[in-house]
Amino acid sequence: MTTESLHIARLGSTGLDGDMPTEVLQIREQAHRFASNVMRPLAASLDRMSAADVVREGSPIYDFFAEVRKIGLVDMAALAQEAPQMQAMILPVLLEELGWGACGLGMLSMARDFTKFAALATGSQEVIQRVDDGFGCFLATQPDRGSDAIDHLCLNSFPGARLPIGNLTVKLDGSDYIVDGQSSAWVSGAPIATCGIAYAACDSDGGFYNEKGHLNYIGLLVPFDEPGVSKGPPLEKLGQRPLPQGAVFFDNVRVPKDFVVAQLDQAHRELEVALTFAKTIVATAFVGVGRAAYDHALAYVHERRQGGVELIKHQGVQARLFGMWRNLEASRALTRRAVSYHFGPHGPHGLGGITAKIHSTESALQISIEAVRLFGAYGLTHEYPIEKLLRDCMAALIEDGENNILGLNAANYLSQAFRNAGGTA
Ligand SMILES: Cc1cc2nc3c(=O)[nH]c(=O)nc-3n(C[C@H](O)[C@H](O)[C@H](O)COP(=O)(O)OP(=O)(O)OC[C@H]3O[C@@H](n4cnc5c(N)ncnc54)[C@H](O)[C@@H]3O)c2cc1C
Repeated sequence: MTTESLHIARLGSTGLDGDMPTEVLQIREQAHRFASNVMRPLAASLDRMSAADVVREGSPIYDFFAEVRKIGLVDMAALAQEAPQMQAMILPVLLEELGWGACGLGMLSMARDFTKFAALATGSQEVIQRVDDGFGCFLATQPDRGSDAIDHLCLNSFPGARLPIGNLTVKLDGSDYIVDGQSSAWVSGAPIATCGIAYAACDSDGGFYNEKGHLNYIGLLVPFDEPGVSKGPPLEKLGQRPLPQGAVFFDNVRVPKDFVVAQLDQAHRELEVALTFAKTIVATAFVGVGRAAYDHALAYVHERRQGGVELIKHQGVQARLFGMWRNLEASRALTRRAVSYHFGPHGPHGLGGITAKIHSTESALQISIEAVRLFGAYGLTHEYPIEKLLRDCMAALIEDGENNILGLNAANYLSQAFRNAGGTA
């Protein structure tokens, strides 16, 4: 061994990783190959298409799901069979690779299964079969209830304010529920979904509000082939373009009681768990996005020459590159810690999901901005992959809750925990 080789850090594709079980390493390698060979080229072509073309019959987006099914990589039901500690190791490793390949497609492949897990909670074989082969989506927000829907526990509602019922309501009618109104236009996967889980204000005979003035909630599954369900056009947006969004409309849709997943306090609990996992999915996927931006920048500064040498030879560039690396490592470590808490004895809790989501998405944005600047003007062109990552990050700051209001929610959790512990230092 030479003196020089003694100084070379031995890094895997995911940085300062210590030991990992063989099973996890195999999943990481398989996911990496898939992300590199299938996801990146597919996402690059979907990114250039109109929102309508992305979801049209024959679109490459359907090739993605065919490939996912073929390799059986993103199988949430199989993952749920693993021991909790194993799930906590596999999930962030798998999602980082999918995020590194194409965050929109990675998150879509996870979000589509939310309905399957919700169906299990109903305990009804008919419901489970009805949504089993379907493509699910998650309807939490409405045109007039954006942050309000995410902050459903009213942690940051103005004291004394009465929040609106919203644009989607559910009413008990005999042994059925009647769903009426619409979701927001931001429901991920809605344009291609065959069913959804909706959380909305419900009147089960006692009105839409409880005695505290908060909304009575219900979570229920709705198959989209029921009479009265229709969809809005897919939304044109900045970033994450392979992840299509759209509104779902309900015109007095009749849903049997069996399709109810949870009501009242239980509905808030279930919604909170779903939102916590959704934020964790975003957090882990955006560790992958930050890494993709770092990887591109690392390669580029070893190629591009200015001032007579490769960019990496300039101390100013070295300092910037190290800042990106440090940010990425911190983001990965924090996200894995939050996932580990979710699967541990005290989890899941929204505080972990929020902390990881905010840190990971804000870090990915900072890393992507620095990467674009290191590429110089080339970073702005469609010819290079960097500008897409920057756009993807912008969408992540808002999805599953805009980061500022999420931070306020988290501060509430911290204060609650302090008071609960007796309120002394
Ligand atoms: C890519 C993407 C995917 C999405 N996928 C889904 C999905 O699958 N299902 C779904 O239901 N929704 C989805 N959404 C919607 C998303 O959850 C909302 O956009 C988000 O919660 C913010 O709501 P809003 O856009 O209505 O902004 P608003 O709620 O109008 O907020 C505007 C601004 O006001 C601030 N603000 C709001 N309330 C407060 C307060 N009480 N205190 C202080 N500041 C406040 C916010 O922080 C924000 O900066 C998605 C959005 C995006 C961008």
